[in-house]
Amino acid sequence: TPTLLWFRRDLRLQDNPALMEAIARGGAIVPVFIQEAAGEDQWSEGAASSWWRHRALARLDEALRARGSRLVLARGDAASVLRELIEATGAEAVYWNRRYEPAQVATDRAVKAGLRAAGVEVQSFNSALLFEPQSIANKQGKPFQVFTPYWRHCLALPIAEPVRCAATALPAPASWPRSLALDELGLQPTIPWDGGLRENWEPGEGGAMARLKAFVREGIEGYAEDRNRPDHAGTSRLSPWLHHGEIGPRQIWSAVKAIGRESGVFPPHNGARVFLSEIGWREFAYHLLFHFPRTPEQPLREEFARFPWAEDRGGTKLAAWQRGRTGYPIVDAGLRELWHTGWMHNRVRMIVASFLVKHQRLPWQRGAKWFWDTLVDADLASNTLGWQWSAGCGADAAPYFRIFAPVLQGRKFDPAGDYVRRWVPELARIPVEHIHAPWEAPPAILARAGVTLGENYPRPIVDHAQARAEALAAFKELRRGN
Ligand code: FAD
Repeated sequence: TPTLLWFRRDLRLQDNPALMEAIARGGAIVPVFIQEAAGEDQWSEGAASSWWRHRALARLDEALRARGSRLVLARGDAASVLRELIEATGAEAVYWNRRYEPAQVATDRAVKAGLRAAGVEVQSFNSALLFEPQSIANKQGKPFQVFTPYWRHCLALPIAEPVRCAATALPAPASWPRSLALDELGLQPTIPWDGGLRENWEPGEGGAMARLKAFVREGIEGYAEDRNRPDHAGTSRLSPWLHHGEIGPRQIWSAVKAIGRESGVFPPHNGARVFLSEIGWREFAYHLLFHFPRTPEQPLREEFARFPWAEDRGGTKLAAWQRGRTGYPIVDAGLRELWHTGWMHNRVRMIVASFLVKHQRLPWQRGAKWFWDTLVDADLASNTLGWQWSAGCGADAAPYFRIFAPVLQGRKFDPAGDYVRRWVPELARIPVEHIHAPWEAPPAILARAGVTLGENYPRPIVDHAQARAEALAAFKELRRGN
């Protein structure tokens, strides 16, 4: 009898345990993707991520068709869709790979219980993580809240090899159930804002493997030094493929392990060690989200719920930040890179997040929401961790009183100003010594560069020293209140 193979955030054929187990079970396989109704959950996929998903589904369908199969598409409530498909195909089993977001955990639990009660065999597997959150605890049996001991604990555990799918054909059902057309899932933008995304990304399992191979060949050795430099491509940029599950962490781990195979040394060099620890931060993010499911909305450190945020009447402060018009070039460059490409360099994510929560004193949740809608890698676990880290209210977070100075950050990590020039073209002709603080440049230099502050580039919307003092005062007030 057929098995329904429910694809979710595991849009790949390689290293896909649910697929391998469905093959092992025997009988026809009916691959299905359900665009789930948003329901109560405010974290249904954002616009940029939906753009990616549309293409990832197209690639997955192609890969399945090359094996005599196809992807059945549906829309709606998962439990009802699965029931209808069971009826239409005569399937007696449903297999999937697990999810860890609070709303998805709840859905999966309910679906599993409902199907089992109806006599359907349900099995779930791990495709997304090296260390599933429910299997990791500290000596007291509690979840970890600090990265270093968490990662030390994990590194002492075995890591499974990726499972290889060598099947050139997948058994098809006698007849295929009805499927929506991909366009009917409504994932595409209705107005064409996605030119920059199309230029920059190649969703799909093939694109992910190509990127991994290129990074392991050329990027990883210098990663420890280059990873902080937004002015050149020093990181892997694997995050959107990882989020959509077109590649899994076991495949990444195994590719890195292969580098050092001849020398027998693992990790083969410091670049690899640091890179794998970033994969560890992703694992840690899932650990925290799973064990502290309120954190996408609420600070992990509860006292921060009373933080005295600044007012933003009419939303003008937030809008200046979103549009990259704060008057701080490195901040503006980051937000424009995000808007154009759906991605932002990690160092700059930290800078713009710090600016929002400390210089503008706006709630971190507003920034998280913006990222959620604009990032192709928008991921509830990593986004929550990143924002709470930046706001000083999360696990192992940067202390609130450590306030990034955007000008110094710009000079340090974009020393020639190339990143700013690329994303803030109106500043392109400003000499390097003034590129990160154009308001300090002599008028003649600005004139020569064609920059009129307040006209074609904003003056800083907040003064750094004053904003810093106000942020520290707000933090003191919070401490006093506790
Ligand atoms: P690389 O440096 O090549 O790292 C490899 C992989 O490790 C990444 O693809 C990612 O999966 C993981 N990783 C790296 N750094 C982190 C980190 N700090 N936390 C968790 N995982 C990490 N990452 C997302 O995937 N989705 C998000 O929505 C997201 N939101 C963020 C918000 C803020 C405010 C901050 C500060 C960080 C956020 N990050 C998020 C983490 C990080 O910025 C990105 O994972 C990284 O920039 C992706 O680029 P890369 O693939 O080239 O990373």
